[in-house]
Amino acid sequence: MSPERYAVVGHPVEHSRSPWIHDRFAQLTGEPVAYGKLLAPLDGLRATLQAFRAQGGRGCNVTLPFKFEAAGLATDLSERARLAGACNTLRFDADGIFGDNTDGLGLVADLQANAGLRLAGIDILLVGAGGAAAGVLGPLLQAGPRRVLVANRTVDKARALVGSHSAMARAKGVELLAAPLDGIAGRFQLVVNATASSLAGGGIPVGAGVLAEEATAYDMMYGPAAAGFLGWARSHGATARDGLGMLVEQAAESFCIWRGVRPPTATVLADLRRLLEAGR
Ligand code: NAP
Repeated sequence: MSPERYAVVGHPVEHSRSPWIHDRFAQLTGEPVAYGKLLAPLDGLRATLQAFRAQGGRGCNVTLPFKFEAAGLATDLSERARLAGACNTLRFDADGIFGDNTDGLGLVADLQANAGLRLAGIDILLVGAGGAAAGVLGPLLQAGPRRVLVANRTVDKARALVGSHSAMARAKGVELLAAPLDGIAGRFQLVVNATASSLAGGGIPVGAGVLAEEATAYDMMYGPAAAGFLGWARSHGATARDGLGMLVEQAAESFCIWRGVRPPTATVLADLRRLLEAGR
């Protein structure tokens, strides 16, 4: 059977590890998938997707800076993508484009299944209110923590995110609050850095006082850019984890949306970590 085409679309996109991950998933599942990269001009997401679809493309992952725009191009959105207002997964169906957001499922799977952290009943600090934070807030709430505080440099964005998720939080019995970075009250068993602060080489955007005893500190970043955050976490006694597992798990969820099969992730994550550690 000739392979069916998928791709990651972004700007830039050259750095993406998604083709490597999906090639491994295709090998492991035997699914006929060919996965590439699409560099879209900043004003050309729609045209790039149309051209890819006309050439037989079956679906895409969407990365920076297009996740919000992609949600507007989908004709049918999952509930979590609608709440997030952002998509990282598009599937081209005969009658339109289905949009979903698997970032949060990936984060929760990495925390619970891979790291063995139970989210039910704990206090979570989510730092950031951009596309990544928007994508993970719903699945974090669904995991049933006691409290989630969303803190962001631009506090209005944190408030908007809390507002859009307040009904879900109420339904799940979770206390959901917003704060500016310098107004965080309390200590948290899980601190998730969903800001781009590591990318910019900036400092850690919160003080160590937010870490509860035996806390887990998670940076969505991975590779060398995550080193500063991980070092900070360890030096304050927290268990540190980078976002590589989230990357692999969100990709597995996308693969499942396209192919109906969830690929195994453990060996893929271990191999990818070795590859990165070898500097390749
Ligand atoms: P985004 O939409 O551009 O949002 C950026 C966020 O970072 C905003 O909350 C912004 O605050 C904050 N920020 C930027 N620089 C900061 C600084 N110096 N100090 C404090 N806050 C700062 O980006 P995104 O899509 O949410 O991505 C965020 C990070 O998550 C990126 O590093 C991305 O690579 C990573 N990510 C990883 C995965 C994975 O699978 N591992 C998946 C998705 C994203 P303001 O609102 O105040 O500007």
